[in-house]
Amino acid sequence: MAVATATTSSNEKASVAPGSQTDGFHLLIDALRLNGIETIYNVPGIPITDLGRYAQAQGMRVLSFRHEQHAGYAAAAAGFLTKKPGVCMTVSAPGFLNGLTALAHATTNCWPMILISGSSEREIVDLQRGDYEEMDQLAIARPHCKAAYRILHAEDIGLGVARAIRAALTGRPGGVYLDVPGALLGQVMDAAEGQKSLIEVVDPSPASVPGPDAVSRAVEVLKSAKKPLIILGKGAAYAQCDDKVRQLVETLGFPYLPMSMAKGLLPDTHPQCSSAARSLVLKDSDCVFLIGARLNWLLSHGQGKSWGEKGAKKFVQIDIEPSEMDSNQKISAPLIGDIESCATALLDAIGDNWQKPSEEWTGAVRDKVEGNIAKMAPRLQNNNVPMNYQGALGALKRAIAENPDTIVVNEGANALDQARSIVDIHKPRKRLDVGTWGIMGIGMGSAVAAAVETGNQVLAIEGDSAFGFCGMEIETVCRYNLPVCIVIMNNNGIYRGDGENWSGGEDPATTVFVEDSRYDMMMQAFGGVGVHVTSPDELKQAVDAAFASRKPTLINAVIDPAAGKESGNIGNLNPSSVVAQERYPQAKKIK
Ligand code: ADP
Ligand code: MG
Repeated sequence: MAVATATTSSNEKASVAPGSQTDGFHLLIDALRLNGIETIYNVPGIPITDLGRYAQAQGMRVLSFRHEQHAGYAAAAAGFLTKKPGVCMTVSAPGFLNGLTALAHATTNCWPMILISGSSEREIVDLQRGDYEEMDQLAIARPHCKAAYRILHAEDIGLGVARAIRAALTGRPGGVYLDVPGALLGQVMDAAEGQKSLIEVVDPSPASVPGPDAVSRAVEVLKSAKKPLIILGKGAAYAQCDDKVRQLVETLGFPYLPMSMAKGLLPDTHPQCSSAARSLVLKDSDCVFLIGARLNWLLSHGQGKSWGEKGAKKFVQIDIEPSEMDSNQKISAPLIGDIESCATALLDAIGDNWQKPSEEWTGAVRDKVEGNIAKMAPRLQNNNVPMNYQGALGALKRAIAENPDTIVVNEGANALDQARSIVDIHKPRKRLDVGTWGIMGIGMGSAVAAAVETGNQVLAIEGDSAFGFCGMEIETVCRYNLPVCIVIMNNNGIYRGDGENWSGGEDPATTVFVEDSRYDMMMQAFGGVGVHVTSPDELKQAVDAAFASRKPTLINAVIDPAAGKESGNIGNLNPSSVVAQERYPQAKKIK
């Protein structure tokens, strides 16, 4: 007897013939689709191979990767871009562990994601009798995500999926683990009963409106500021209330700094954008208004030299997570709520007579911004061979300005830090990068998700080292024929390509790779377009061609091996050795 196909289209429960049966596989697929989830990022294998097959047969988009970590990074990025949980599916134990890094990454970045992993038999796992890929995955997942659930009975699949979706989306979004023992998938039940057991989650991310006292307190603090600054974080980009955010920023008239994935929420070329005067605004401002941004390490915890005189600033913060307040500095006016509700309440409260900050402050910031941009401009036009980062990224900056719907994916050390400051982003959610942890290897997963979820052209700007963590996924890019153009900033190594072995021995230095590697030839192996370029002009031409054709393309951009610096802009996070300078004469060169 054929298993009933309970699924017709998403978001509706289909009618089933009386007496027909369904099973765990199909209930899981139906439960996801009922909640509008239509895409799965996965790596097939025991026990979920057929689950992927059936999901595809039922009309879901199922994208198979070469390694679970990248399927997971894709799901995480999809969560950020769509405001719906991105779903990653893996096999048991090793596949699960590979996916777990991405689940933790999604949670750390406050992005909704669900990791569904097959697992082996509970009876054997719990008595540690040594099953195929035996592992207590639920217990291992729990500390690395927002919530973790296991489903044991087919009739609970609706409940399990509903709990996973709600947990991922409600309040501060995050990653959820769903444990699916192999035996569950094969369980059979009456199709009509199964249908009734499914749950369509109602209002999974409810509006969270700040109280009136909190709003007037915030208005008072903002009003009293002489040198205010706004910091926009990726929470504000995730919230998808772009017009409201823009209206709030423009009404207040404060200079603003976008965190890396908030770039483009307002165009980086906006007159209030003060990225090019970052040091000045962080140091001299007297009031900082954080909108969906945390005062974590990326903002040096709101303290230290870069933040100016200790205690001289007041902080106002919008965040959906109440416990985020005072995590690093006193928050004088906490606004707990979703960004849209908070921005709306603030705009209502400040009305039409808002006094923008003095020209003395905004003019000084503007002068600094214009001065720094003018200083930088000629360096971004250089056509030097070998290329330095500025010449190469100048070319990419122009390509993005001409194609502002392109989604930029960016990872590396120097390739990340320099691209973040050089390549302007013009529209919201058009930049995906290494996120809160600074992970290397997010590139190809993020690029696949960006292309799949939006249909837009993607430009992945990759350090050669970062690319190495995810490079095999170019086969995935080619297999699905995605409009992804990858530029490898190839300087022959990690940070720099001219490292030396300080022992004088034969082995290469710990930070260098094979000299003059031809990453473009890897792309050709999978039928993609591979191009080798040595000058900014050639690079621009190759990118233009990739954008025009929308073909999977990899450009090997040869960068001067001496162009980078150790750890990019975060060399200060390396511990220092008191004896290195006297033991190794070469150490002086690095600092
Ligand atoms: P960035 O790294 O860009 O500074 P963070 O990841 O540090 O951004 O901060 C994002 C913040 O946004 C988190 O504290 C998260 O709780 C918050 N957030 C996420 N979504 C929303 C939302 N819809 N409304 C309000 N705050 C949100
Ligand atoms: Mg490198």
